Amino acid sequence: MLKFLFPTDFNCLLCGRELREKSRYGLCSNCYQKQEAIERGCLKCGKMLTAEAEYCSECQNTERVFDRAIAPFVYSGAISNFVMDLKFNNKRYLAEYMAKIMTDKLLREEIAADLLLPVPLHKNREKKRGYNQSALLGKEIATRLNLPYMPFVAERTKDTLTSSTLEGGRKAREENMKDAFVIKDPSAVKNKVVLVVDDVLTTGATADELSRALKKAGAKRVYVLTFASTREKKPILTENRDLLLLK
Ligand SMILES: [Zn+2]
Ligand SMILES: [Zn+2]
Repeated sequence: MLKFLFPTDFNCLLCGRELREKSRYGLCSNCYQKQEAIERGCLKCGKMLTAEAEYCSECQNTERVFDRAIAPFVYSGAISNFVMDLKFNNKRYLAEYMAKIMTDKLLREEIAADLLLPVPLHKNREKKRGYNQSALLGKEIATRLNLPYMPFVAERTKDTLTSSTLEGGRKAREENMKDAFVIKDPSAVKNKVVLVVDDVLTTGATADELSRALKKAGAKRVYVLTFASTREKKPILTENRDLLLLK
């Protein structure tokens, strides 16, 4: 009965091995160590750096609107399965564990904010899915950090295409995202440091566009926290999960 209610408290989320003690992240140490943690990320977008530099090549060449983005993991292997399971397979209980890892990463980076909002989904998409996976993460993180959780500050008014599947590079991605968000309550963000939460950072176009809207509304700074970020210049996130079954 307990196992049914709390299916992940006693077994590793990945290998199913029984955990000797309650694991903070729901993973046995063996499985946790196999994941690609980002120890040294780009100081702007947070992506894993492959060269000896402070910024990734993309951030060196283009301007970002958000002040900084961070993620604990590279979007690969079992980490991408977590994201997909939360997003498409209704495994909402994963949000608690993912949020713990994200919160710990944020605290390690010593980033503080005044309020938190998840990247909103367009209402059509949320209706179809039944929930917003970023809101599940955001709510958990806000509780852990004791931050005001304000999911209704921003609305996604444009049902955009998944930006990483777009051809035509950065210009096409920007055009696709243009004016995708509306800040419904500008007074809530004016002169505030905003923490935006999403599941994955791919091209950064979504985070940039939401940050642009927030800054236009008067936000002082915008930080972005995601569970994973794709490798530099090789986005693989797509709504077609068949391509992503990496198990
Ligand atoms: Zn395991
Ligand atoms: Zn970067």
